[in-house]
Amino acid sequence: MPISNQTQLREFITKLPKADLHVHLDGSVRIETLIDLSKQHNLLLPSYTVAGLNELVFKDEYKDLVEYLTGFGYVLPVMQTPEDLERISYEFALDNINEGVYYTEVKFAPQLHINEKQDFAEILIAVNKGLERAKNEFNKKDAVKSGKLPEFHYGIIVCTMRFFAQGFSKYYDDFLAAHKGLNQNAVFALASAEMVKACVKVRDEHNIPIVACDLVGAEAGNPPIHFKKAYHFAKQNLMHSIVHAGEAYGAESIYQAVTELDAERLGHGTMLFSEDGIKDPSIKNKAQFLQKLIQYIAERRITIEVCLTSNLQTLPHIKDIANHSFVEMLAAGLSTTICTDNRTFSKTSMTKELMLAIQHFDLSRHNLRRILIDSFAKSFMPINYLQKELYLTKIEALCDALINEYKY
Ligand SMILES: [Zn+2]
Repeated sequence: MPISNQTQLREFITKLPKADLHVHLDGSVRIETLIDLSKQHNLLLPSYTVAGLNELVFKDEYKDLVEYLTGFGYVLPVMQTPEDLERISYEFALDNINEGVYYTEVKFAPQLHINEKQDFAEILIAVNKGLERAKNEFNKKDAVKSGKLPEFHYGIIVCTMRFFAQGFSKYYDDFLAAHKGLNQNAVFALASAEMVKACVKVRDEHNIPIVACDLVGAEAGNPPIHFKKAYHFAKQNLMHSIVHAGEAYGAESIYQAVTELDAERLGHGTMLFSEDGIKDPSIKNKAQFLQKLIQYIAERRITIEVCLTSNLQTLPHIKDIANHSFVEMLAAGLSTTICTDNRTFSKTSMTKELMLAIQHFDLSRHNLRRILIDSFAKSFMPINYLQKELYLTKIEALCDALINEYKY
C-alpha cells in the first residue's frame, strides 16, 4: 500500500516504532492537568480553559524565545509536590505510548522543584514512580507480551542550568544567598556540580534510571567550559553527557560541548553550519573550523537531537522550515534524531515532527530508517546491553516491515 495522501502518511508514522530523545517534562504537561492542578492549588492562570490557554500561552507562533518561555511560569508551580509530579509523569508516558513512542528520555531540572515539601530524592522518586507505573501497565498488555508491540522503556535526564537568577526557584534563591559575593559564573558552575552530585547519589541509593545530565539555558555568556567540573563528576560516575548547544549561539558552543564536556549527544546544534554565527574572534578561518568540527561530530557519531517545530518557534531568524540546518546535517551524513522538545509548548508530538521531517526534507528511505533506528540505538536505555541489542533487532524488524508494507 503506497502512501498517497496525508492520512496514510499519518497512519504509517503512527504505527512506526518511535523514540524521543529530547523532551522536557515541564514543557509537556497536559493543558487539562495544568488547569486542574492550578485550580486545586489556587494558582493564577490567564485562562482556565484549554482554548483560552492555547490562545494566550501555548501559541502556534511565538515572538521570540522569551515569549516561548513565559509558559514555564505557569507550569512549574503545579510541579511542586510528589503527587503532582507523579501524575504529570504518568500522563506524559501515556501520551507517548498512545502515539507509538516506545522509548523516551525525559528531561527536567530537579532544582526548580525543590521546596519544603520535596528534596532531590523525593522529586526524582515521584517522577520515576509515574513513568514506571505507565511502563508496567503497558508492558503487561497481551500485545506486548506476545511480541506484537515492543516494550516501553524510559530514562531520566537531569538538567543543570547555565544561568539562574533570583526568582527561578526557592532552591536557587537560597543558593544565590549562600554564595553572595562570589563571581556569578563560579556560582553557576558550583550549582551544576552540586546538582550532578545530588543526582548521582539519588540514582545509586534509590536505583532510579537517571541516565544522563544535560546543560540548558542561555548560551551567550555561559560557555560549556564553565561546567567542566560537573560533567567530569558525571563521567567519573558513569553517567552519560548531553549538552544543549548551538541552538541560539555559534558553533564554538558546540565545539566546547564535544571537546570540553565530551557530549555524546547534542541538543539542537542548529548553528553547526553557520560561519556568520561564530563570534569567537580567535577563530580566523571559520570555514576550516566548521569543516573540522563537522567531521569530528560525524566520525564519532555524536547524535544531534533535532527539534524542528521548537526551533522555528524560538529562533525566528530561521523563518522557513526549508532554511533549517537539518538539511545540511542530512547532507553531511550526521547521526540525527527527530524530537519534540516540548510537547505542550510546541503543540507537537513525535508523529507531527516526523511528518514535518518527511514532508519538508524529502527523507529518503535510507534516511528515515537511519533516523528511526538511531533514536533507539543512540539512546542511553537503562537495560542490560544484550537486552538492548535484542530490543533493537525487534525495532529494526518492525521498522522494515512497515516501510515495506507502506512502500515508503
Ligand atoms: Zn531542549
